[in-house]
Amino acid sequence: MTNRDLIISYLDEIIPNPRCELNYSKDYELLIATMLSAQTKDKRVNEVTSVLFRKYDLNSLKTASVEDIKSIIKPVGTYNKKAHNVIEIAKRLDGYVPNDRDFLESLPGVGRKTANVVLATLYDEPYIAVDTHVKRVSNRLKICKSDDVFKIENALYKYFKGANFNRLHHQLVLFGRHYCKAIPDCTNCKLQSICKKKIWIKFHIFLVVCLCIHNINCFYMCSCVIFINNIICYRVTFRFICFNISNSSIIR
Ligand code: SF4
Repeated sequence: MTNRDLIISYLDEIIPNPRCELNYSKDYELLIATMLSAQTKDKRVNEVTSVLFRKYDLNSLKTASVEDIKSIIKPVGTYNKKAHNVIEIAKRLDGYVPNDRDFLESLPGVGRKTANVVLATLYDEPYIAVDTHVKRVSNRLKICKSDDVFKIENALYKYFKGANFNRLHHQLVLFGRHYCKAIPDCTNCKLQSICKKKIWIKFHIFLVVCLCIHNINCFYMCSCVIFINNIICYRVTFRFICFNISNSSIIR
């Protein structure tokens, strides 16, 4: 089984029914909720949109008071700007959300990620939206080691060529959000054999054990080994060396 097939099969096993975790009942609600979700947890967005969409429909949003929208969406980050965006988006929509990337990306607060979510969810377009979770998972599974979301998105299309991207998009988001978190619990993960993170965790445990068992000179040896390996992961190396330098001065 290839790594690609292993990932798809594991995601199908743990997330058999992937779905968007933002609540919506109309197309414009999904668009606005996705815009609001930037830098904010979906749970918090659902809390504010349940109030917002109960009070306003698309037409009434066009003439809503920006202060009232601000007071409703205050729990989400950057709510001042987002309140203006909500009203502007409502004004620009002609009754529905079109299947038109250029139009969507011309709306305030709507970038490629939001457009991808909306087009994939509403129109089944084969897009993968790269958010912080998808980025982290792609990096750990060695699919793409870039910070550029456009590069990551294209790497995912290439890597998973032929797969159901809509389904995969939700699975990658949910996997990153609930399983492969920033501090993951890798105990039961079946992707350990292909995961960069797991290899580094083992390597660091080995080094820490070396430092504990042997004397401090072992630290320098380990640091050299890590330094050589910085081609693989220089940021982890830097943090690890800094951590050990500060500890070594304490030990001395
Ligand atoms: S082994 Fe851990 S870090 Fe790697 S993919 Fe699984 S949960 Fe994520």
